[in-house]
Amino acid sequence: MSNAPTSSAAASRAFPLTPAATWLPATGTRRIAAGLSLAVAFAALTALGANIVIPIHPVPITMQTLFVLLAGASIGAGWGSLSQCIYVALGIAGLPLFATGATGPFGSALVPRALSAGLSTVILEKRPALCTLTTPVSTGAFRLQFDNPEEIALVREGIDLFERFAEVTGLDGYDLGLKQQGYLFCTTDEAGMRRQQEWVMLQHGWGLDDVELLPGDEVRYRFPHIAPTVLQARYRARDGWLKPKALTMGYARASGAMICLETPATGFVRQGERIVGVETARGTIGCQQVVLAAGPFSGVVAQWAGLDLEMRPRRRMKLVIPELPDIPADSPMTIDEETVAHWRPALRGAYALFTDPSAPVTEPTENVTPDARFAFDLLNPASPRSLARISPFWTQVWERGEPDWVLQAGQYEYTPDHRPYLGPSAVDGLVLNCGYSGHGIMASAGGSRLAIDAMLGRISPAENPFRPDREIVERPLDIL
Ligand SMILES: Cc1cc2nc3c(=O)[nH]c(=O)nc-3n(C[C@H](O)[C@H](O)[C@H](O)COP(=O)(O)OP(=O)(O)OC[C@H]3O[C@@H](n4cnc5c(N)ncnc54)[C@H](O)[C@@H]3O)c2cc1C
Repeated sequence: MSNAPTSSAAASRAFPLTPAATWLPATGTRRIAAGLSLAVAFAALTALGANIVIPIHPVPITMQTLFVLLAGASIGAGWGSLSQCIYVALGIAGLPLFATGATGPFGSALVPRALSAGLSTVILEKRPALCTLTTPVSTGAFRLQFDNPEEIALVREGIDLFERFAEVTGLDGYDLGLKQQGYLFCTTDEAGMRRQQEWVMLQHGWGLDDVELLPGDEVRYRFPHIAPTVLQARYRARDGWLKPKALTMGYARASGAMICLETPATGFVRQGERIVGVETARGTIGCQQVVLAAGPFSGVVAQWAGLDLEMRPRRRMKLVIPELPDIPADSPMTIDEETVAHWRPALRGAYALFTDPSAPVTEPTENVTPDARFAFDLLNPASPRSLARISPFWTQVWERGEPDWVLQAGQYEYTPDHRPYLGPSAVDGLVLNCGYSGHGIMASAGGSRLAIDAMLGRISPAENPFRPDREIVERPLDIL
């Protein structure tokens, strides 16, 4: 007599039932049939649960999570997992179970808002991990010192969230690496002083009354690293920076979304004019809305739907000096208003950057090559863009020649007016959350909230200054 287990006995061991389900037959074909039926039932409940919203503050939840947990707890890990596989398989096969498809890390910033509308969300990411393209290259900085009230409001929403991130998301003790050490824009000439005075007056008029205008001596009194040549500065103490990777992972964790890595979107499925699904390298996903958040690739992806989205990717670089004892750890983001060279404390050293207005528009790419001249432009005191112009200690840093540095490069996905495209596009079923033009960290929360609210009709087009069909007026390059 053979000791080999029967297939039903093997299935019993592989898929044990929890004590809660001991009323089912312990072995045999009837048990498998019962387990399968329960798995199918829980798949259906999971889909149903996505549409039952509990509107608790600050992050509403759906019943979906409960049914996922119940599946495991009541019918056991094996049958429970099978139920979720069935749910995912049906969605991937094209049933419109997933209401929102989104690409990109800032797809995940969308999700709490989408959940509150009872939508279940799938994030597609073509690379093997989240947050590996533009976002981790960024300086992670945020400021309210903008030249228009709309962007101030957009970023303000983000800063409000960053300040209460753990509480709002329910991620107890979650650390964004938030530092609010201020943005200090320094000017060394009379024209710069006049421009700053006009800006600060405008900003105060828009209710941004905590921007200070500091005479040169007071700048040096508060920030001893600033050069005698600085005549004046504008300063807002609560501007600052955070860790972009921590922010993205926090958004993703809080979202509860299904995240599909190594799943490039390759096209759209249409029903008449409407988009009803996304083709991916791993199959098709049916959905009611697709949110496009593919960073510098958003223009290319929009083209698949026949949408001409004006996006102009340009290379932006960041100099990373991991260790530099000269850097005052409590100093603000220090910006030379005339050259736009700027630096801030980071790691045990600094990040330093400048915007090169002559950087050409390029194709979107996953491999942006840095150029060593960028580092010399910032570090060499003889360069007109040297950091030493307003912070003289950089001269000693250059003369000692000792710090290790590396360059990182990514792309700014500029729109012609340097404002993002947020909300439904001209293509039915395609919603935009892209074109952040270099402000995608600071504007991610406000922008994603706005895109979802516009998608759901919670705000009218007139209430959305970033709607994709706005009248677009070209703007000169922003200084940061
Ligand atoms: C040097 C530098 C400094 C910066 N500093 C700041 C700063 O201080 N503050 C600030 O607010 N902003 C800053 N930015 C801008 C900010 O980094 C971007 O606006 C932001 O990262 C954009 O995020 P994203 O999620 O839209 O794009 P990305 O981070 O590029 O993510 C897009 C994702 O979409 C994925 N994807 C693309 N196509 C597909 C597809 N077909 N299928 C599936 N997935 C796809 C990509 O793999 C990628 O992971 C800086 C940018 C640079 C380059």
